[in-house]
Amino acid sequence: MTFELAGIGAAAGIAIGTAVVLEPASIDIPDYSVAIADLDAEEQRLRTALALARDELLRVREAIPKDAPQDTRLFIDAHLLMLDDPALRDRPIRLIREQRRNAAWALHHERERLVEIFERMEDPYLRGKREDILQVTDRVLRHLLGAQVPSLTAAADRIIVASELSPADTVMLKNGSVLGWVTDFGAATSHSAILARSLGLPAVVGTHQATRLLRSGDQLVVDGEHGTVLVNPSPELLLAYREMQARRERRRQLLEEERDLPAITVDGTAIRLFANIELPEDVEWVQRSNAEGIGLFRSEFLFMNRADSPSEEEQFQAFAKVLRGLPGAEVTIRSVDVGADKLLADSDLQLHATGLNPALGLRGLRLCLRRPDWFRRHLRAILRASAIAPIRLMLPMVSTVHEVHQARQLVEQLRTELCAEGYKVAERLPVGIMVEVPAVAMAAHCFTAVADFFSIGTNDLTQYALAVDRGDDDVNGLFDPLHVGVLSMIQHTIAAGEAAGIPVAMCGEMAANPQWTPLLVGLGLRQFSMFPGAIPEVKAAIRHTVVDEAQVIALAALAGTSDLFTQTYDVEA
Ligand code: PEP
Ligand code: MG
Repeated sequence: MTFELAGIGAAAGIAIGTAVVLEPASIDIPDYSVAIADLDAEEQRLRTALALARDELLRVREAIPKDAPQDTRLFIDAHLLMLDDPALRDRPIRLIREQRRNAAWALHHERERLVEIFERMEDPYLRGKREDILQVTDRVLRHLLGAQVPSLTAAADRIIVASELSPADTVMLKNGSVLGWVTDFGAATSHSAILARSLGLPAVVGTHQATRLLRSGDQLVVDGEHGTVLVNPSPELLLAYREMQARRERRRQLLEEERDLPAITVDGTAIRLFANIELPEDVEWVQRSNAEGIGLFRSEFLFMNRADSPSEEEQFQAFAKVLRGLPGAEVTIRSVDVGADKLLADSDLQLHATGLNPALGLRGLRLCLRRPDWFRRHLRAILRASAIAPIRLMLPMVSTVHEVHQARQLVEQLRTELCAEGYKVAERLPVGIMVEVPAVAMAAHCFTAVADFFSIGTNDLTQYALAVDRGDDDVNGLFDPLHVGVLSMIQHTIAAGEAAGIPVAMCGEMAANPQWTPLLVGLGLRQFSMFPGAIPEVKAAIRHTVVDEAQVIALAALAGTSDLFTQTYDVEA
């Protein structure tokens, strides 16, 4: 049957492929008695499910992409060890026999007991093991109950349909075998959607019912621009979409031919274009995009999909790889921004990052300052990398001048420490801030004394200014970076930077939308940073922009007469 699902277009492009539906996370556990004659068979069912889960984890381990962080395997190994633990086999078997109950109930009963024990532990590391127990037993339960086990790495050339994907799941998709994805939840500026765009994978999020209505094997057309998913389309519709795909490809090739043209407006104003990256491997895309350098390296992705945090040396090597891949380019490394939706398996850190309201709690710089031991290792790696090429350090989730002072003091202490240890460190490491907390944007003039540069993070700035969770599709319609309140903050930040003579960039998703390029140029923005794939289209928009006209557009937008700037630049897809 042909039908269409509507959601939110999270990453533009058209993907045509076959659905792989990953089951929703919760499983109903059946509870029934087993006749004495059937107890042996019930025990065997549990043993088989444990063995299947084991085989499957071994396969997942094999399929981990080569460029995944080194310790991704450790994560899987920890789960394999748990599967071998007698607690997950012997006690449930005893329960099956003593209580004469089914295997799923027995395993679930044991899992609840273990989870309770771990939750009571004082050691935060052991307490964090609770999550592993849940994940491992989930896997076995799904085999017992015949449910499909989510396995991202096993899906080749498919469109993933899932309830929700975490940023950590998303980064696993970098092995290139997935064509796109559809989720029940999520919004256009959630971190998973941002990753989808940087991977160049069309994605539709927030459909609410994809996992319920779609079946593995359905043919899907994912239109990431319009936010629609066409299910089992007719041959005519399929043809129309294939033509659309071909048109997009022609447009891409055209822009590729303009790759070496400078990013200057019609009247000669030069605009600097930088790239946002998540992993060192992304440097190849940056090279292809012809960006001037990196405006945002989301270093927290080095810490994902692994059981613990990378060592100082490992972090240093990752930064070194980026710098060596882009000789002479300006590279801005953002210190780790975990918390809110970006959680790590490192249970110690994760515990700190899950407060009452994680988006307003210990996130970004706040979390780093709370854990100086951990932050020191990270900053030492960045400082050591500064000897290879000039880099800039950018602090996320700043809210006070005092926090910036604290971070800067630590940087200076560590510089002395490293020099005493014989390491080379650049004489100057510019330290800038992300402007993403509304009060900081409004008080940007107070931060020019402590920041060497600003970068406007419109994803969080919009979220916090409008009180709209950036990952919640229920309020997605209210997430509007064009809101006069948000635009005024952007303008104020740019003006404050300009008055103090410090560079101001924008690295939020707003910078990647070519339709808004003239508006941003009109507001005075001269540095943009975006996922590499967006650069050609934004550059084309810049090359069509006349600064005088852009200023008129900006004034209209700030006055709230928004109809003027929606007609400014049409992407000819
Ligand atoms: C932002 O908030 O706009 C930003 C660029 O940072 P992130 O999306 O990683 O939170
Ligand atoms: Mg942010």
